[in-house]
Amino acid sequence: MSRLAGKRALITGAARGQGAAAARRFVAEGARVIIADVLDDEGKALADELGEPAEFRHLDVSQEDEWGAVVGDEQITVLVNNAGILHFAPLADTSLADYERVIRINQIGTFLGMRAVIPGMITAGGGSIINTSSIEGLAAAPTLVAYTASKFAIRGMTKVAALELGSKGIRVNSVHPGMIDTRMLPTALGGVEVDLSRVGKRLPLRRVGRADEIADLIVFLASDESSYCTGAEFVADGGATASHALSVT
Ligand code: NAD
Repeated sequence: MSRLAGKRALITGAARGQGAAAARRFVAEGARVIIADVLDDEGKALADELGEPAEFRHLDVSQEDEWGAVVGDEQITVLVNNAGILHFAPLADTSLADYERVIRINQIGTFLGMRAVIPGMITAGGGSIINTSSIEGLAAAPTLVAYTASKFAIRGMTKVAALELGSKGIRVNSVHPGMIDTRMLPTALGGVEVDLSRVGKRLPLRRVGRADEIADLIVFLASDESSYCTGAEFVADGGATASHALSVT
């Protein structure tokens, strides 16, 4: 299969989880991929596993100079702004430092990433930017004030970028996963494991999602199959946002 032949992709937060699943699918579909992350050992191991089309680069998405060093003059034609962190605390107990940490990585990281690849995409004649938001970019969740703010911001920035860049052949879309079985939740809980099946049973599809299911959506948005999609929100949540708080099942 070669749905992404000729594409030069950069995926942030690609050492594990949804980013790693996307990197695997991208290489299988013929793309060349930069696996970017702060987890050097995991990122290098994945690049070694995927072989010549993949390379690992250390990138803290919250650092402007690191974006310059990784992107440089490269003509990246697909950017997946996937890196993200979660922080649980009630609004009244959220420290400024924790709020800023989440905003810097999730929101500012996405802004810096989009800005870094624009010149190369214009030179290349176009490209696709995929920004990972969340269902928390569509509706709020208690104890997630910083995360929800960052994911709503990503949804908004995506539309601004789509409006500005459409005439240059650059498409920009947001992806809104529901609960996906990765290390994000246990990491945010300090290593505590959570039984996700209890959450999954409440969903229309009766299960949480897998990283490869989000990777399939990202492949579509990276490929020319989505050539008329820009400024749009793509939800993959097992039906989580199909109901509202007043609905009874
Ligand atoms: P994950 O924790 O497995 O992966 C996140 C990756 O981002 C990790 O490899 C981590 O090292 C990397 N990262 C963190 N800070 C970084 C930084 N400053 N610079 C570069 N990389 C950094 O979680 P995941 O589920 O694969 O999350 C991927 C994306 O999906 C995130 O944006 C997350 O908010 C979003 N998301 C996740 C879920 C879910 O339920 N897992 C749901 C909706 C949205």
